[in-house]
Amino acid sequence: MQEGQRTDVNTLGEFGLIDHLTKEFPLQQPSTIKGIGDDAAVIENGDLCTVVSTDMLVEGIHFDLAYMPLKHLGYKSVVVNLSDIYAMNATPKQITVSIAISNRFSVESLGELYEGIRLACEMYQVDLVGGDTCSSPKGLTISITAIGQGEKNRLCYRSGAKVGDLICITGDLGAAYLGLQLLEREKQIWEKHPDIQPDLEDQKYVVGRQLKPEARRDMIETFQKSALIPTSMIDISDGLASEIFHICKQSGVGALIEESGIPINQEAQLLALKFKLDPVTCALNGGEDYELLFTINPNDVEKVKYLPDIYIAGEILQAKEGIKLNTKGGNLHDLKAQGWVHF
Ligand code: ADP
Ligand code: MG
Repeated sequence: MQEGQRTDVNTLGEFGLIDHLTKEFPLQQPSTIKGIGDDAAVIENGDLCTVVSTDMLVEGIHFDLAYMPLKHLGYKSVVVNLSDIYAMNATPKQITVSIAISNRFSVESLGELYEGIRLACEMYQVDLVGGDTCSSPKGLTISITAIGQGEKNRLCYRSGAKVGDLICITGDLGAAYLGLQLLEREKQIWEKHPDIQPDLEDQKYVVGRQLKPEARRDMIETFQKSALIPTSMIDISDGLASEIFHICKQSGVGALIEESGIPINQEAQLLALKFKLDPVTCALNGGEDYELLFTINPNDVEKVKYLPDIYIAGEILQAKEGIKLNTKGGNLHDLKAQGWVHF
């Protein structure tokens, strides 16, 4: 990029932009074990490591207050940050919360937001230890930083996957995206006919996955109890396809995902078909599931085989084999980070 030139940020994409802006920042402190590029940064701190992650949520981009109650928004804002700490196989301990607010928000409504934040702190046993408050010309922005702790030799990075490792997924994928589709549809109807009550078709599961996600603390505890250390791990915030790309890129490997191994909730599956969406595409590209994607050494397969809510969905290959999806029909497709479409 030359001086005087004006390059649109969209030309680089999110990850290209981060790389571009941060490439002249070599790490200077020996205590910085991991800087930019994973779910959280890792800082050496005696026998334990401090793990730090931060996320920003902007009204109109990440949430829509037309269907997102402020209390849920507060809860979700915390959970999405804690998810990044768990994805390092670490335990969150503290958060800071910064908000920028327009005068549209009353003390009472911000109290609702903080009630959600408080509930998440209670649920995940983290302390709110600081933040910042300022005004904004328009809308609401929330920025949360989560600080956690992990044992150095138990931390899981995106870069640790080896050829032959098995690819595992927790929970189920795609439901949060379908919940969003349903809420968006009802919002559009409501904008045209404000007298009609939203019809969420009793889709409690998918709507709940969108409005009140949980982070997989239970999985980190399960790993500890089963003496299992995944070789690599990432949380699924942008869809399975994007996350497997991150693991492969940073580990220098390829992957084969079995379509039949991708866990999809039945309610989500039926709703996808109703919306004329491919359920597998929703799982691959939907996002906001906050499940964990991790790889294990094949010798550890007995440890995960009988654990509830963990699904083996593929295998790590050599980089030259690319990133492939083996469909239920037995066809091999190149998986694209931005997705792979059935129809
Ligand atoms: P995640 O999806 O897990 O929250 P991101 O994709 O947001 O992670 O970020 C990828 C990496 O880039 C992280 O290490 C994050 O801290 C870093 N990062 C993102 N934006 C910036 C920025 N503006 N300046 C420095 N580092 C950034
Ligand atoms: Mg993440």
